[in-house]
Amino acid sequence: MDSVAPLPSSPRLIIDLDAVRTNYQLMAILSGTAKTGAAIKANAYGVGLERVAPVLARAGCASFFCAHLSEAMRARSVLGHEAEIFVLSGVSYGEAPLLRQKFLTPVLSTPEQIQLWREAGDGEPAALHIDTGMNRLGFDWHGFDPAMAEGLNLSLIMSHFACAADPDHAMNKIQLNRFSLIREAFPKVRASLANSAGILHGPETHFGLTRPGIALYGGAPLDTGGPALAPVARIEAPILQVRTLRKGENVGYAASFTAPRNMTIATVAIGYADGLPISASNHGFGRIDGHITPLIGRVSMDLSAFDVSLLPSTPEPGDMLSLLGKDLEALASASDTLSYELLTRLGPRFVRQYKGSSA
Ligand SMILES: *Cc1c(COP(=O)(O)O)cnc(C)c1O
Repeated sequence: MDSVAPLPSSPRLIIDLDAVRTNYQLMAILSGTAKTGAAIKANAYGVGLERVAPVLARAGCASFFCAHLSEAMRARSVLGHEAEIFVLSGVSYGEAPLLRQKFLTPVLSTPEQIQLWREAGDGEPAALHIDTGMNRLGFDWHGFDPAMAEGLNLSLIMSHFACAADPDHAMNKIQLNRFSLIREAFPKVRASLANSAGILHGPETHFGLTRPGIALYGGAPLDTGGPALAPVARIEAPILQVRTLRKGENVGYAASFTAPRNMTIATVAIGYADGLPISASNHGFGRIDGHITPLIGRVSMDLSAFDVSLLPSTPEPGDMLSLLGKDLEALASASDTLSYELLTRLGPRFVRQYKGSSA
């Protein structure tokens, strides 16, 4: 046997595909009689579109939402021809032939896009995005003329909540009323309003199709409360070095941490190049053997330091520190960001391991 066993030196991202399926099934139950679609934009919220989309399809999902044509083409290549795939950014000049060829459905948001699809869509389905108050993307509900959609083969009209994470927010009811009003002009067309958070508001927001995203990936849809979701993504990062620190010594770039006492710290192979935000500096945390381990000093590109002074036993190089998992929301708020951003920034450098019977 070699005298030195190889130690792990780079972080892994472990994705639990069974957890994705479990979360989808929960969203489908909560969606009641509505069909349950899935937002798989941004590489399925960072966890891997090619692996996640087929799992969702096998769980019964037939409608997928991507942000851009390139994502939708990736989705089509793993989903086969049955799935309905929407492109939220719509259609731009030059994209129509590919959309048609791959049977992708543009979500139209401007008069120009309607015009383009009328001319180049060859009668293939399109969706219509109505902006009911978010003022982001879609036809302004106010003054919207349903005649604009004449000549289109509409398969869906949709809108999006601005404040669904707070079910008591007055915007929710306002947007629901505006959407319901517009919808009266399209009685035969399927309608969709609810994202993950919206699904939790109850049946009147469900219409024919719901569009959960974050909940599928284990992120909490609501600011507070909501159902328990299965954690999907966990980082396992190896300790590269264990150091002792004398009271008054500093840690990391800009010496932003000063030891208040003698300490033991671990330098771990995880940094902002992997998606751990700089804002986690001096605020984030990981776990070693389940014990909370505070992040100290500034997150660097490939490395971060963690205080291991208070652990029951001092870890060694090669031991693993874990991040995210069931701590996804806690790490996001400690880092002054959202689980959405933590997940979608998970870097390409990880070795990704997929587990579960669906893997
Ligand atoms: C991202 C997105 C969703 C999914 O939202 P979650 O909050 O992640 O559930 C639904 N609809 C639209 C239009 C989106 O952009």
